[in-house]
Amino acid sequence: MTAHAVVISGGGPTGLMLAGELALAGVDVAIVERRVSQELAGSRAGGLHSRTIEVLDQRGIADQFVAQGQKHPVVHFHVPLDISDFPTRHNYVLGLFQNRIERILAEWVGELPVTIHRGREVTGFAQDDTGVDVALSDGQSLRAQYLVGCDGGRSLIRKAAGIEFPGWDPTTSWLIAEAAMAEEPKWGFHHDALGTHAIGKGDGGSARIVLTEQQLRLDSEPALHEVSEALIAIYGTDYGIHSPTWISRFTDMTRQAAVYRDRRVLLAGDAAHVHPPVGGQGLNIGVQDAVNLGWKLARVIKRTSAESLLDTYHAERHPVAARVLRNTMAQVALRRPDDRSKALGGTVAELLGMHEPRRRIAAEMSGLGIHYDLGKGHPLLGRRVPDLDLATANGPLRVFALLHDARPVLLNLGVPGGIDITPWADRVQLIDAKYDGTWELPAIGVVTAPTAVLIRPDGYVAWVGDLTQLGLAEALSTWFGSPAGA
Ligand SMILES: Cc1cc2nc3c(=O)[nH]c(=O)nc-3n(C[C@H](O)[C@H](O)[C@H](O)COP(=O)(O)OP(=O)(O)OC[C@H]3O[C@@H](n4cnc5c(N)ncnc54)[C@H](O)[C@@H]3O)c2cc1C
Repeated sequence: MTAHAVVISGGGPTGLMLAGELALAGVDVAIVERRVSQELAGSRAGGLHSRTIEVLDQRGIADQFVAQGQKHPVVHFHVPLDISDFPTRHNYVLGLFQNRIERILAEWVGELPVTIHRGREVTGFAQDDTGVDVALSDGQSLRAQYLVGCDGGRSLIRKAAGIEFPGWDPTTSWLIAEAAMAEEPKWGFHHDALGTHAIGKGDGGSARIVLTEQQLRLDSEPALHEVSEALIAIYGTDYGIHSPTWISRFTDMTRQAAVYRDRRVLLAGDAAHVHPPVGGQGLNIGVQDAVNLGWKLARVIKRTSAESLLDTYHAERHPVAARVLRNTMAQVALRRPDDRSKALGGTVAELLGMHEPRRRIAAEMSGLGIHYDLGKGHPLLGRRVPDLDLATANGPLRVFALLHDARPVLLNLGVPGGIDITPWADRVQLIDAKYDGTWELPAIGVVTAPTAVLIRPDGYVAWVGDLTQLGLAEALSTWFGSPAGA
């Protein structure tokens, strides 16, 4: 039986990102992916939010995505919300279809030591105290220390682990299709008594059609004639729709795994949370789940951190997805076409026209507002480190460049050589630097400049120094294990 430290079931965006993170940390990782190639039926997700682009930037791979996408200065929560004033290099939504996102991620993973078993499915597993036996559809099996289910909303791993998936049943369904149209359609949004419909440009010049259905339907493989009939009912014509490349249906089903971990089995991405695609958040939070989990799992496998570090994955990421579930439910409610919902929508739009509500909700939608509860203290604690331009003895340096290898950093902005972390020197980079500008956080504003920050591999601040080193040793031990020799 072939053994790997980690087996990932599912090589979608979440599984690919996790594999990349583990490989960067030097962990032997394999993906089992049902699809024979990275090609997707349909373009699915339409873009990347600021925080996701930032985490890709932290690994030095954002440019590949940015070069292929289109920048839009707004996020959507019921109405467009401008984010061009947010203090980040990536103050925009990057329009880029999922098939391209996956292709670029797969290229990155392809350059790293990751084994990919394509055209095979995980069919079950059995875990014991030391590992997991993973059964594959070709009759083979793999042995892993940990198995991660990145296998999408219908996750076999989640079901086989017996992890509950509580939430809300669907109330509405939408038809989605990508096809050619003989006539020029009415591009953009269209509102009627059924709700909101849209026809936009799909990948490769086709039309991407999303139609709210009259009645909730659950079968996931609708036919072209259903799309044609729905178009006629809504627009009075089907615009001569033909040659579909993708027809599907999605609903507003909203559910979240009760726990993200059962001993040696973990869940990430859609396997852990499903919700309607309003606001375009699912892929984004999946990729960020992977970036939160990767370094933690690597440390536990390498025995440089205790297994309890994995508990922080659920503690940090479950609340983030719970917020996303909540905001998507709110957006679906605000889209209802009845007069009272419309009145509520008008009030919400007015509120979001004000500065503070706009920047709060926009920070949530873009992922820039994420705050992990790491205790009380400086506003930076538990928040993303800004990508500041530093001056170092070796020349100018961006903070994110320090994270390319996914290693933690202690950034000393005080007296050079004033901090000693010798017992952790094998695990944590110590960088002396100067930064004279302001520290500004999205939705918070300018905060007091720290004299040092401990930055985790995922770019979140684990400790903030304010002239003293109070609590530094504790933070280093919590996140990066006991000091050498202890
Ligand atoms: C119409 C639509 C529009 C969307 N728009 C957006 C958007 O704009 N922005 C956004 O962020 N999100 C959007 N989403 C959501 C986004 O597509 C998902 O959140 C994202 O694909 C989740 O990634 P994942 O890797 O977790 O799961 P998936 O993409 O579902 O990948 C799971 C992978 O696991 C494989 N797999 C499944 N079972 C097994 C098994 N047993 N063994 C081996 N392999 C297996 C599958 O083949 C697949 O490759 C949209 C979704 C839809 C349907």
